[in-house]
Amino acid sequence: MRLTRSLENLIEQLQKLPTIGPKTAQRLALHLLKAPESQAQALAEAIVQARDTVRPCSQCGYLTETDPCVICRDLSRDRALLCVAEEASDVMAIERSGYRGRYYVINKEFKLMGDRSLEDLDFTPLLSQISSGEVRELILALNPDIDGEVLSRYIASLASSYPVRITRLAHGLPVGGDIEYTDEITLRKAIEGRKEI
Ligand SMILES: [Zn+2]
Repeated sequence: MRLTRSLENLIEQLQKLPTIGPKTAQRLALHLLKAPESQAQALAEAIVQARDTVRPCSQCGYLTETDPCVICRDLSRDRALLCVAEEASDVMAIERSGYRGRYYVINKEFKLMGDRSLEDLDFTPLLSQISSGEVRELILALNPDIDGEVLSRYIASLASSYPVRITRLAHGLPVGGDIEYTDEITLRKAIEGRKEI
């Protein structure tokens, strides 16, 4: 079946979103066409506005509209704890677990079989934070899969020459799972039971 060019384009764009397959993309596109004009307009504006205003925090890499972000500005946070996370969505999950230290968000995907190598990731900002002397413990909260494992070991080796305790999240996290989708109780237990690497 031939669709009009505009509808085809909308479906194509929606399909580029994670977890959206062709059928869902088609359903969403048709929904947007049927929805009140104001709703579709609000969605389009929300996308453009978020893209324009939300940036990684210059200190921790978490997504923010004000720099530094609300976490970095929070003086009640334990500055001795620095948690390394892959993405902002992981920070959101770890926040829900009650963790009150600070973060370092990598914001770059690392895949063993992909075209990125470990050397493409620049950890200079992380190492300069560690060398400031405030950090006493580096908590590696990377996904419990093979890529997270490799990355954890790499960061641990980079940080090993500094006087910090290096830990990783403990048991309970499903192997091959995703920090972002882990429930807060499992995540809290994993943080509490973190182990030296
Ligand atoms: Zn920040």
